Amino acid sequence: MCGIVGYIGHREAYPLIINGLKRLEYRGYDSAGIALYDGSNIQLAKTKGKVVDLEEKADKEITKKGNLGIGHTRWATHGVPNDVNSHPHYSNSGELVIIHNGIIENYASIKQELISRGYVFHSDTDTEVLVNLIEEIKKKQDVKLGKAVQIALNEVVGAYAIAVFDQNKPNEIVVAKLGSPLAIGLGNDEFFIASDASPFIEYTNNAIYLEDEQMAVIRLGREIRIRKIKNDTRIKPFVHELKLNIEQIEKGGYDHFMLKEIYEQPSVIKDTYRGRLLADQGIIKIGGLEEYIPKFVNADRIIIVACGTSWHAGLVAEYTFEDWARIPVEVEYASEFRYRNPVITEKDVVIAISQSGETADTLAAIKLAKEKGAFVYGICNVVGSTISRETHSGTYTHAGPEIGVASTKAFTTQITVLTMIALKLAHVKGTISKSDYMMHLRELDAIPVYVEKALERNGEIKEIASVFKDSPNFLYLGRGYNFPVALEGALKLKEISYIHAEGYPAAEMKHGPIALIDEQMPVVVVAINSNHYEKVVSNIQEIKARKGKIIAVVTQGDTVVRELADFVMEVPKTPETLTPLVTTIPLQLLSYHIAVMLDKNVDQPRNLAKSVTVE
Ligand code: GLU
Repeated sequence: MCGIVGYIGHREAYPLIINGLKRLEYRGYDSAGIALYDGSNIQLAKTKGKVVDLEEKADKEITKKGNLGIGHTRWATHGVPNDVNSHPHYSNSGELVIIHNGIIENYASIKQELISRGYVFHSDTDTEVLVNLIEEIKKKQDVKLGKAVQIALNEVVGAYAIAVFDQNKPNEIVVAKLGSPLAIGLGNDEFFIASDASPFIEYTNNAIYLEDEQMAVIRLGREIRIRKIKNDTRIKPFVHELKLNIEQIEKGGYDHFMLKEIYEQPSVIKDTYRGRLLADQGIIKIGGLEEYIPKFVNADRIIIVACGTSWHAGLVAEYTFEDWARIPVEVEYASEFRYRNPVITEKDVVIAISQSGETADTLAAIKLAKEKGAFVYGICNVVGSTISRETHSGTYTHAGPEIGVASTKAFTTQITVLTMIALKLAHVKGTISKSDYMMHLRELDAIPVYVEKALERNGEIKEIASVFKDSPNFLYLGRGYNFPVALEGALKLKEISYIHAEGYPAAEMKHGPIALIDEQMPVVVVAINSNHYEKVVSNIQEIKARKGKIIAVVTQGDTVVRELADFVMEVPKTPETLTPLVTTIPLQLLSYHIAVMLDKNVDQPRNLAKSVTVE
């Protein structure tokens, strides 16, 4: 969510911004746009599609002249990817122009207020609301642009990196950050702005990284001024000396996109529930869901269709929906479902899950379900994707672009959405007690912190990986909510290290896989403190008796399993229902480190495609 670039100085801004946007392409996007100040007017071109499409359009539509400009690659969150919703966005007067990465949560109420004051909106974006709010404040309170931005940002809730300029004051750009990244490159009487330093690395090695809740007025001919948005305190800028190359910058300093995405999970889980989960007030409010709640509540059953990792997220949801909302759930491989003449009626609700929203088998399953009269709800990450258009309604996970082929953050954000839906339905149906509901809201709100804690164990997990990297087979076991986690752990290992791995419900081991266990076999057991704890401990004893090597995921402070296991990977305590969101983390890291140690292509494993658009 996604790329911003800006420039003010003595160079031609257009080529610099276009090249900068190309450097940010790795972040993934669906549209691109640019606004330049040509000495008397703003020149603006924007389009759905890629930066090359923008170049084509700019060739025809604008002069491409000017020493001040801002450019954007958009990853749509509010409004489908199309030309109008692309950034930059003008204010109503046409004087201000803005680019924005992130989400303004309370845009709807601000929009209503502005409409009542005569403002007109051309796009469906939250961003256009923000630029008009800034304009309204600037005019009403007769303040400078910087002050207006500051006042506006104190009124909005959400996440942002923004750059905005005023055509009447073409010697400055105002930028601000909360949640989304923003770097300012310092040149010789010139300034560069970008989501990371890659767009300006050949021009300067000096950069300031804005911290959350900071803003800066970047004016030619004077020192940069950084302030706290909340209390207006002046901040002394800290200038970093850049030592990374472009590739390192793109990966955020991580060696691989997969690792970067694993580490993004605390923030993207938060983005996913941002504005939807209001824990203190006991509210879950999901745009696409509200008006269809009766469909879910009165459904005979919910059928979840998905493939791969999304199917595992569906399996987790089977537990939460049945446990809390008491609605029968079936989880189907989309590819099987569509070919076996399934019984579906108008009383069924089908939930289709897909990161890309383009998965061919899931799409075909949706078509079939619709033909049979079922209500179909989509959970996708890519806004405007085919599945998001083909379903009756749905919810986006706001995971941001996932580049690593092996899915990580898409999985945990899918579970986040499904958990919120299950809690909401249970609350409406009255099948969950008030105290249990409130406790789960609070705990879900705390998940990003728990995930951070789980990530802190990375060093220990790397050591475990070095012990087992040459094992030809792995077994993954889990029970209840953590059975799907065992499946997902095994899938991650297969995908990126090419080691054979199987996931099993722990108790099923006795019915077959136990025959495989000998001193060569590492068995990864999710043995967190839960309803099944004693049973899982018995399963571990059974493995130990056959000399299997035990790597256990345990709850922080566990002593019993620690005694029995060869290695443990600790995760913080959460309610059992939410454990998949944290127990998944060490398994992602374990497979990542093994694949790296085996020198495999982690981000693009052989034979795999990121989005499976063939049947
Ligand atoms: N929320 C904004 C939109 O949907 C910005 C998305 C982005 O980060 O690219 O237009």
